[in-house]
Amino acid sequence: MDDIKIVLPCGFYCKYEYFRNNKEKFECPICKTHYINTKECLNMTRNRLVLSQSDVENAKKDLDDCTTTLKYYEDDLEHFIEEESNILKNQIDLRREELKIMVIKKIDDYYEGQLKKIEQEKKKKFDKFISRIGRIKLLEKDIYGFNISDKNDIQTQIDMNIKLFRTIDNATILAENLKVTFSKSIYGLREDSKNFDVSTLFGELYLREETKRIFCICSNFDDKQANFVFKVNDISKYKGQEEFKIVSNPCIFRNFEWFIIIQMEKNDIAVILQCIRDQKNDDSSILTQSEIRFFDYKMNVIDDFTIKSKNDFSIYPECVLLRYDKVENMINDIGFYDKKDDSFTLNILIKVDPQQIMAIDSEK
Ligand SMILES: [Zn+2]
Repeated sequence: MDDIKIVLPCGFYCKYEYFRNNKEKFECPICKTHYINTKECLNMTRNRLVLSQSDVENAKKDLDDCTTTLKYYEDDLEHFIEEESNILKNQIDLRREELKIMVIKKIDDYYEGQLKKIEQEKKKKFDKFISRIGRIKLLEKDIYGFNISDKNDIQTQIDMNIKLFRTIDNATILAENLKVTFSKSIYGLREDSKNFDVSTLFGELYLREETKRIFCICSNFDDKQANFVFKVNDISKYKGQEEFKIVSNPCIFRNFEWFIIIQMEKNDIAVILQCIRDQKNDDSSILTQSEIRFFDYKMNVIDDFTIKSKNDFSIYPECVLLRYDKVENMINDIGFYDKKDDSFTLNILIKVDPQQIMAIDSEK
């Protein structure tokens, strides 16, 4: 496009690239004797013709690029679809094997821990028996060696019998308790619920987001504006994640790559428009008007919900179009959240035309 020859009011020709700096007026680069009014000059009939011819050529090239790629898929359609689903199947297979190894290891580690406990208890039980039986045997020795002579007076005999009875009672309690210790093992195994959530452990399949460019619904469609639709599916599955970023496919427009980003940090959620510039258009401004619009259930744009913003992406490559302080608020905004699909669809209209935007500003 930069090589197109533009006819000048003085009759000379210059390359289109001189007009790319977006200045309203500039000195004639060829004869340097006058100023050129960009708008008037590009509006000359011959220039309009060559520019529109060049637009057609460029559009054809773009279409060719797209259809060439599609042809590549078409030639081996089944293979590509098969290959794509195989990649996913492999991921799931791999996950299954990983999880099996992980779960078995966790179970084995836990099992080892339980065995260790049992071993420790065995030792404790052995020591406990030895020490208790020793005490019982000593008491037994005392009891059977206890001699109450009938030569003692009656009261002393009664007191001694009471004392002997207490000793026997103590020895019996000790012996009974020790017997109980051996009647069953110290530990039992309680079996817990067999239900646990496999999807939490395994991870779930989710529908990826979709990006597409659509024809402008309004009538004054021209190449200075583009309309992108970004649909985020399965949004509930993202809830509760500390930090996440969903990035659209690149939207190519006016030689720039545009991205729509949904970014969440803590509970804050933002819709961001990002522009990545090529080395080629380094010096030009990317003064842009963007509109974020929402669809109703019939896929019509809801005008009341349109949010407009202006940004020069050559200075600030990212522009926050919308911010919610909670994911729930965004989800609950019935204006554009689709309960049936668990999705929401954003329509982002991008207008890049510094002269026109500046003109609108100066009129205000
Ligand atoms: Zn001139």
